[in-house]
Amino acid sequence: KKNLLVFGTRPEAIKMAPLVKELEKHTNSFETKVCVTAQHREMLDQVLEFFDITPDFDLDLMKPNQNLHQLTADIITELKVVLEEFQPDYVFVHGDTTTTMATAIASFYSGAKICHIEAGLRTWKKDSPFPEEMNRQITGRVTDFHFAPTTKSKSNLLKENIQESAIVVTGNTVIDALLESSERVKHIQNKEISNLKSILSEQKELILVTGHRRENHGQGFIHICAALKEIALEKPNIQIVYPVHLNPKVKEPVNEILGEITNIHLIDPLGYPAFVWLMNQSKLIITDSGGVQEEAPSLGKPVLVMRNNTERPEAVDAGTVILVGTDTRKIVDETLSLLNDVAHYNEMSGKHNPYGDGKACERIIRFLLAQE
Ligand code: UDP
Repeated sequence: KKNLLVFGTRPEAIKMAPLVKELEKHTNSFETKVCVTAQHREMLDQVLEFFDITPDFDLDLMKPNQNLHQLTADIITELKVVLEEFQPDYVFVHGDTTTTMATAIASFYSGAKICHIEAGLRTWKKDSPFPEEMNRQITGRVTDFHFAPTTKSKSNLLKENIQESAIVVTGNTVIDALLESSERVKHIQNKEISNLKSILSEQKELILVTGHRRENHGQGFIHICAALKEIALEKPNIQIVYPVHLNPKVKEPVNEILGEITNIHLIDPLGYPAFVWLMNQSKLIITDSGGVQEEAPSLGKPVLVMRNNTERPEAVDAGTVILVGTDTRKIVDETLSLLNDVAHYNEMSGKHNPYGDGKACERIIRFLLAQE
């Protein structure tokens, strides 16, 4: 069988990389090619380099100020050429980006079977997160095999009348990537990690922050930055590290409000190895990222999630994640409570990770081999 894996953004690349590597062990059964849309050029390339993946097709579609309409049209049009040339049996897409949705539609039109990794996450709210919720629902409609990370995501798919035999619970492939990378970062020489060591103090507790979601652009980021400023001033003995997303709608307010505060380090987005290293060093993580919410519980790090609802309720239920939205007061209060209340901190950091055991890719491949 011929497999085509298509992805375009940093998180998709991190979560698809272990599958690319696992499929490389099965060349007797599969011919596998990788196509990148490069929806996020720079952040994607960092991941490809770390996992040593050279795409077979590179659509290089990122444009300045790109809009979703043009991007969708470009992906569908350009992918048609790749699908005609390679004629894959299976097209693998991941998660909920515009690359995911447009690839799924293009593959559906071309008659390839669609395998959706990280299937079945839902908020059931059309606009939240935008456009991810609709991207994954639309992808789910045309998918043939749904690889759901948890039983919760499987039950979401069953509610949409997806056949149970087309759903496999695998765990999230991000844990496969994280476990392998956490081991590897202990032994590699990495310039970004050396730079971080030179700016950070080993004596000070570290809060790691990331944020990029479209729904938080505007007022959301202003409130988030106000909270970070208050925490930094209230606790001069902690250090906050914030790798700032490249989107100007994030970069501008963050630099403007937090640029001058001495115990806040605003840095460029990090390559995956340095980010994994930094997660391991941190006391707690404040984020609106999906992937980070899934990774942090594996490392025993409490997470405050700057969203009002989440398609990842498993960690909230397990007690390793608290939703704080973008309310300045709530972000400050929950952070201070984790910093000041040791019992509360230990309670949150000691829970188990509900997102898998690092063997998701093995399960995906086992399922496909059984289809032969
Ligand atoms: N990440 C990274 N460098 C950074 C920030 C995040 O490599 O500076 C990784 C992180 O470990 C996670 C993924 O990127 O695996 C999350 O990406 P993002 O937050 O952009 O997207 P989301 O998960 O919200 O879709």
